[in-house]
Amino acid sequence: MTDGLLSAETAVRVSGTDPGEELLAAARGAASVPVERVGPTGATALDPLVLATDDGRTALYAGATAERAESVAAGLGGGSFPGDPDAAVDHGPGPTRLPAAGTGPLAVGVRRVLGGAGWVVPDSPADHETAGGFGADDADQAALLDAARSVPGRGWGDGATDDPVADLWETVRGAAGDAAVVVNAHGTPADRLLLASVPFVVLEGALAAARVVDASEAVVYCSAADAATAETVTAAAAAYPDPAVPLRVETGPDEYRAAEPTMALEALEGNHRLEARLRPPGPAAVGLDGRPTAVHTPRTLAQVVAALDGAPTRLVTVDGDVAAPATVELRTGATLADAVEAVDPEGTVKAACVGGEFGGLTADLDVPLSVEGLTGADLGTEGVVELLAEGRCSVAFAGERARFAEEENCGRCVPCREGTQQLTALLRELYEGRYRADALHELMGVMSSSSICAFGVDAPRPVRTAMAEFEREFEAHAAGRCPAGACDGLEMEAHT
Ligand code: SF4
Repeated sequence: MTDGLLSAETAVRVSGTDPGEELLAAARGAASVPVERVGPTGATALDPLVLATDDGRTALYAGATAERAESVAAGLGGGSFPGDPDAAVDHGPGPTRLPAAGTGPLAVGVRRVLGGAGWVVPDSPADHETAGGFGADDADQAALLDAARSVPGRGWGDGATDDPVADLWETVRGAAGDAAVVVNAHGTPADRLLLASVPFVVLEGALAAARVVDASEAVVYCSAADAATAETVTAAAAAYPDPAVPLRVETGPDEYRAAEPTMALEALEGNHRLEARLRPPGPAAVGLDGRPTAVHTPRTLAQVVAALDGAPTRLVTVDGDVAAPATVELRTGATLADAVEAVDPEGTVKAACVGGEFGGLTADLDVPLSVEGLTGADLGTEGVVELLAEGRCSVAFAGERARFAEEENCGRCVPCREGTQQLTALLRELYEGRYRADALHELMGVMSSSSICAFGVDAPRPVRTAMAEFEREFEAHAAGRCPAGACDGLEMEAHT
């Protein structure tokens, strides 16, 4: 294995979701020290971020241009940092994790699974090893199962959402036939961040799962719209030293529902019409090509690896009405308010939609980010907190999500296919002066209790929670008034 970037004491790193080749080329053209592209940090407000390391210190230059990257790279090595860095961090020799500044989005939470994000070269096994990686490859099955017991599946694309991962692994292991592991990366920004910045952590988790369930391969499933991430994880998979089973990377359609575990399997099997599968049997018994399959998100697998070495954490992405989204890593006990510290909201926060597309609305940010805390407040556990600023209308927001569900569902089952149409129609009636709360509750109850997959089960949540939290706004709309002033004078069609 060749030396990685972490062994260089003087170096320039270029980080960001898409920092651009021009910026990288400018830095390389001017520098006499190593210049490498690293993955994003999760703090998009800082992108593109140039990190200059010299003499046990790292300077951070946020929002860098090609000109700035060039001057930083040209001036590095003289004992002081060129230009005017946004922050400089003392760390001594050889830090293996991003030296985060004491203020700003990088200071929020902890950086354990995200430790290498924005610091290591994503597809460098040498960097991963220097950072203490590949430990799971040597862990025995009992230790892996122990770690998996403490980690609930993360995200609706996981085969063990909110339940201990070890239970699923034991089911797969006990099922007859050659097993498989699927890394369902068709999910949230946090999943994409892990694969783009620290793919070896995720692959390590996938290979650990493969060893426990006795799988013959691990398949990473990415969105076709995210070619850069697929490319990074493909390079990392090819460079993985002596993987326990073959690793391959596939892409699937860029549709929201394609993240649902059984639709992910349909896409991987080459079916163009994506429909959820009836359960039982679930994928743990009959999954990819009929084999018992452990389907997990990158977040889940990274947390299993982290749990070998301490308590798992939680990745949360905060977006919506913010200056720039951020993904942060938080310890057990953190609240929604802690996650919101990482962003600059656009005005006063009216509410947050917690749990992704079909998350729940709340005006209370003092809710623990645990599975129990979130589900107890009828919020989603998807790991996305979408802020709504004052001036946003809860009825319009709920209507948009209902319409999205109507347009995006796979059509396989009546409660979801017909239910989402009726839900949209009932919300439309509000704008015609009728608020049928009982009918809405009855419909949403049927959808959540009898839909085939999580799409239909969760689809009513934005409406249900908006009604609970902002009932007076619903009543006001039926009376012909939008308290937020967002719907006045507009055609109701624009909102439902
Ligand atoms: S709940 Fe919706 S998305 Fe899921 S199978 Fe039924 S129609 Fe398809």
